[in-house]
Amino acid sequence: MVNGADLSGRRALVTGSTSGIGLGIARALAQAGAPVVMNGRSSAAEAGEALDSVRGHARGDVCYVQADLSTEAGVESLIDGARDALGGIDILVNNAGVQHVAPLVEFPPEQWDLILALNLSAAFHATRLALPGMLAGGFGRIVNIASAHSLVASPFKSAYVAAKHGLLGLTKVTALETAEHDITCNAICPGYVRTPLVDKQIDAQAKAHGVPREDVIRDVILKPQPNKRFATEEEIGAFTVFLCSPAGRPITGAALPVDGGWTAH
Ligand code: NAD
Repeated sequence: MVNGADLSGRRALVTGSTSGIGLGIARALAQAGAPVVMNGRSSAAEAGEALDSVRGHARGDVCYVQADLSTEAGVESLIDGARDALGGIDILVNNAGVQHVAPLVEFPPEQWDLILALNLSAAFHATRLALPGMLAGGFGRIVNIASAHSLVASPFKSAYVAAKHGLLGLTKVTALETAEHDITCNAICPGYVRTPLVDKQIDAQAKAHGVPREDVIRDVILKPQPNKRFATEEEIGAFTVFLCSPAGRPITGAALPVDGGWTAH
């Protein structure tokens, strides 16, 4: 169990769960007893290690559906695959996301399109396709993995900040449209979590400025975060379990910072 919560029988889909935050959430939900469908762009064989690590914690079924969520058809195939595997979706975690860092005037339009498609449109498609089943069943928990960048901006992250602000808007509308049906929709807004997505940014900055990675972590990455530490995948996983547990029922339409005080500035 996680936080004492028992999610047995609550069928969960976590998008982009082969690494980082999504993997931590899949593990926590599985540990809390939820049957889980994991997803990534890679094949089931390539995702084998991640799958095994979640199965190692699971009390229910754990399956994997390969799908590229940067297209509407990819999201549709994931939702169909998850329903086939679990018989329905009670918990939807929209987590899959990518980042690209560049000044606005140099920002590659294809990176803009990809970030908007994956970090925002995929959540819209997954939500609109999963909601009818939740409405019919009278229960649903939708958790959007947004960002501190849903609340504040940083330079050089135009597409990411735009997509994450948009995801918070989608969260609020979804919450308002479903509030009377025991369906909640919330946005978890993490500051920095040490995942491959962040490691790429640390490497790029260290290379660009010719400084050690530790300096980049101290002077750039954790600079806006008052507590000066990365949140962990386990902490985001435990918070997701809380939102899906009975105690999370009255919380909907909320932007929930998990950012060590970043957005308190
Ligand atoms: P990550 O790179 O470790 O994981 C990203 C996941 O998305 C992987 O499972 C990958 O397979 C999947 N993915 C990538 N492209 C895909 C595609 N086209 N189709 C399907 N799946 C795809 O990144 P992470 O840091 O764990 O990020 C997860 C989410 O958390 C993202 O939405 C990110 O914006 C958000 N977030 C991360 C941080 C952080 O500091 N790491 C902070 C705030 C928000």
